[in-house]
Amino acid sequence: MTAMGMVREFCANLTLDGGCMGIPVQSLAAPPGKAVAHPLGKCLIAERKRCSYFERCILPLADWRRPEEKKGAQQGRLKARATYHRLHRISVPELEEPRVCPDCGALLAKRARYCEICSKDRRKKNARAWWRKKGKNGGPDSIVNEKRDFASP
Ligand code: SF4
Ligand SMILES: [Zn+2]
Repeated sequence: MTAMGMVREFCANLTLDGGCMGIPVQSLAAPPGKAVAHPLGKCLIAERKRCSYFERCILPLADWRRPEEKKGAQQGRLKARATYHRLHRISVPELEEPRVCPDCGALLAKRARYCEICSKDRRKKNARAWWRKKGKNGGPDSIVNEKRDFASP
């Protein structure tokens, strides 16, 4: 995913023709009639410029994990954020010393110990190990073993 991809997916200011309604962050919570807007003919991100709305409201969504979305979607958002930071030379502690997944080396979201793909794999492995252990005490694995023993000559 690119920064513009994040805009298309999440920015409430983007208009159908690629322009911007220009409602600033501080006006989002303003009562009706009090909001100010500075519409633009073209989205700033499409022009490779900085946008404060994008930085405050959209970029933090890179840390958002949605279990229902496609594998690697969050990784795409993290890469888009890192590319945006590099493009505008925005220095953030995370980028100076990027945290990576110990299993695969992918960029990590804030507070995450593993990337979304590896954490899913680990959850599955742990669940399998749990079932195996439980199997020794009469769980499903022991039933499978009994059947195998029974069927063998
Ligand atoms: S300029 Fe900023 S607020 Fe406007 S559409 Fe682009 S990202 Fe959204
Ligand atoms: Zn990983």
